[in-house]
This record gives sequence, structure tokens and C-alpha cells, in this order.
Amino acid sequence: MSTLINPTTGAELDSSPASASLEEADAVIERAHDAFPGWRDVAPGERARLLRAFAAVVDEHLEELAQLEVLNAGHTVGNARWEAGNVRDCLNYYSAAPERLFGRQIPVAGGTDVTFHEPLGVVGIIVPWNFPMPIAAWGFAPALAAGNTVVLKPAELTPLTAIRIGELALEAGLPPGVLNVVPGKGSVVGERFVTHPLVRKVCFTGSTAVGKKIMAGCADQVKRVTLELGGKSANIVFADTDVAAAAASAPYAVFDNAGQDCCARSRILVQRSAYDEFVGRLETAVRALRVLDPADEQSEMGPLVSAAQRDTVQAYVDGATVAFTGTAPDGPGWWLPPTVVESRDTSEPVWREEVFGPVVAVMAFDDEDEAVALANDTDYGLSGSIFTSDVGRALRVARRVEAGNLSVNSHSSVRYWTPFGGYKQSGLGRELGPDAPNAFTEEKNVFIAH
Ligand code: NAD
Repeated sequence: MSTLINPTTGAELDSSPASASLEEADAVIERAHDAFPGWRDVAPGERARLLRAFAAVVDEHLEELAQLEVLNAGHTVGNARWEAGNVRDCLNYYSAAPERLFGRQIPVAGGTDVTFHEPLGVVGIIVPWNFPMPIAAWGFAPALAAGNTVVLKPAELTPLTAIRIGELALEAGLPPGVLNVVPGKGSVVGERFVTHPLVRKVCFTGSTAVGKKIMAGCADQVKRVTLELGGKSANIVFADTDVAAAAASAPYAVFDNAGQDCCARSRILVQRSAYDEFVGRLETAVRALRVLDPADEQSEMGPLVSAAQRDTVQAYVDGATVAFTGTAPDGPGWWLPPTVVESRDTSEPVWREEVFGPVVAVMAFDDEDEAVALANDTDYGLSGSIFTSDVGRALRVARRVEAGNLSVNSHSSVRYWTPFGGYKQSGLGRELGPDAPNAFTEEKNVFIAH
């Protein structure tokens, strides 16, 4: 693996792991396969206890994990603590699942019909660099709870927390081979998860372009696949809302994690009669954002993850008409200020494409129908917000926007106990929520004649 860089300073880290080769990936997949029958047959109460023990060990190492993410990914320390806590909370939540994998008893003539939820075997989880810890846990916590073993490939840029979490699993008493972390390239390790016949399901989070390749690759073996992909979500602000509150919230809906967030509301639609007031208040809020060293407790936004990502985002900014920006350190490291663009043309790249950086485009609309049409005028459908004081309108618009996760008068996106996933090219299947463990099982139907 190429040398890891601290995005805040541009300095090399001295802890870059080696990239797994194809042969090493195969060996880990086989180890996970060998560990599967033992893990599947662990009594439900014992599997639950082990997941709770894993959560407790993560909790003991929360600060260490958070600091590692600050170093490797440039996340603000406040966010990184939340992310490590999310791993713990997911494990605790899904530790209830082994004892609740209920089948059904279905009325039939001439016998009894029952269903069982059986684990799949080895599950391959491929994660991106933007939220290395939570996204890994959203896959492995329900997969392990349902009795599967896991091979987890972190992103090339941000493998350190996943590797540490794998060590903590062993420390907590999970049997060797149950949760395996395989750092390496997408084109080697990730593709092997897709092609290896012993991997029974691939959970992929990342770009839509790679997601399409993975879906096509999985088709060859009719392999189960979950895709959590890109987004271009809309934040719809109606004039009947508390405009000050909506404008104060908007920066956090898009600039969190320096905009490297699949749920970022990177298009703001504002009803024309409130447009000037909203944009004025947004400017005040954006200029007040504290873009600081992510290790600083006051920091609200850190650097971008890499020089390449910063250059990609800068190219969008160069091609757009910038209305105003916040501030950012000059460097070293991969910094950009939070940037607001006023858009009048829906064909502009900054309006249509997932920028994945601290850039938001604002546009005016006249009525509810136009707002919904603009929000839906995208191939994506992951997330979004609606700000209004009219409950009827909130529900009408929420039902008409083609996206998997919407918030009303809020910019919150993900709760591990509610389902999460995308419409259209933002994904396939759902993660999280109470049903997630079932997505890591086959439902078997058994008819007993009597
Ligand atoms: P990416 O698609 O480049 O990479 C994601 C992962 O896939 C990495 O681990 C990478 O090594 C691996 N990979 C790359 N090529 C592969 C291949 N051919 N076969 C198998 N694996 C391969 O994405 P990224 O740049 O790391 O992350 C940013 C993207 O992730 C954005 O589009 C963002 O919207 C998306 N994302 C989506 C969600 C969601 O839940 N919907 C969450 C976070 C990020």
C-alpha cells in the first residue's frame, strides 16, 4: 500500500500497512470460510454476549480510535469520537439480534410450515474513505449477529481504524477468522470479494461507478449484493419556515466532514420570496464556520482526505460562479474553504454531479411542484431535507421526493436503528434498522406433512 499521508499536514505517517496480494486475500477468505460453521453454531445468547464484549472493548478504546481517524482521515475530533461511538452502539444494538432472528409459522393444509433465517457464510464488506469506522460497522455488526463471518476491506487511504477494530474484536474474545480485515487495493482485494465463490454476499459502499461494476461482477454468480452509493441531495427551504433556523442548519447539512458525505445536501432549493434573506443568513453562518486543525476541540471542519480529492473539488469551484466562501488554513495539508455557488442552470456540473467536497449550490424555486421537480432531477436519490412549518406540506413533499432518507426541519441523516439506503443510482437494498440482520440470511421454508 502506498504511504499514508496525514491530510492535515501533508506529512507521511509511519504506520502504512502492506497491501494484501490476491493470494493473501484468498487465504483470508478461506480462513473466514473455515471459521463460519463454528460461529454459526455458537449459541445465540453467547453470540450476543460476545458482540456486547466487542462493544465494550471498542468503548474502552474510543479515544484511541478517534485520534487515529483524526490522523489518517483528517476528521474533526468531535466527529471522530461520534464515529467510534457509533461502532460501539451498532454492536450493542445488533447484539440483541442473535436471540431475535425469528422465523414464521405459516398456516397450510396437511402439515406445518415454518421458516428459518440461516446465515449466508462469508460476507465481503468494502468501504470507502469518508466514514471508515461507521460504514464498516453498519455491515459487520448485523452480519456477525446473524451468524456470518466477515472479510472487511477498508479504503486504500484510510485503513488504520479498521485494522485496529479487527484487533479489538480478537481482544474481546471473537474467535479468530470471524472478523477479518484485509487492507489492499480495490482492483485486487475488492474484486476478489466479488469473484471468489466462497464470498456469498458483497456489501459495497462507495462511488456509483464502482458500484455498477460490482453489481455486474456479482451477477455472474448471482451473488447477493448491497450497494450504498453516491448522492446529490436537496435541502428544500420553503418561505413558511423559520428561515433563520434553516440557514443556521444548512452548513452542517453539507460541510460536515468537509462535504465528503454521501448524504451531503449539496443543492439548496429556496422559495423565491425567502431567497435573499436565506442567502444573506447563510453567508453569515458559512463565514462563522470554524475550519481548523481537526485535532482542535473547536474545529467544525477539517481538510479534505487527499491532494487528489482537493484538486477534484477545486476543479468544480473553478468552473462555477462562487457567491462567497468561508475561511480555511492555507496549508500545509489539503484544505479548501466552505464554498457557496448560486446556480441558475441545472446543467452546470456543480449542480448535477456529486462534488464530494465543501461546495454547495443554491437555486430559487417558485412553488411546491417546482421544488419537487428540481429535487428529483438527478440520477441519485439518497437523502434530503425539507424545511417548512406546514405539516401537510412536509409530508406531501417527503412522499414525492425520490430519496431513501429525508429529514423535516432537520439535517440529520443516519440513525443505526432506522433503515438507510438509496433510491435510483444511490444504491440497492437497505442497511441498518431492525431488519438489517435478515439481509444477511437466507429464508428457508420447511413443510412438515402430518
Ligand atoms: P470508491 O468507489 O472509489 O471506493 C470505495 C471502495 O471500493 C474502496 O475500498 C475501494 O478500494 C474499493 N474499490 C475500488 N474499485 C473496486 C473494484 N473494482 N472492485 C471492488 N472494490 C473496489 O469510493 P470512494 O472514493 O472511496 O468513496 C466516495 C464515494 O462513496 C462517494 O461516491 C460517496 O457518495 C460514496 N459513499 C456512499 C455512502 C452511502 O451510504 N450511500 C456512504 C459513504 C460514501
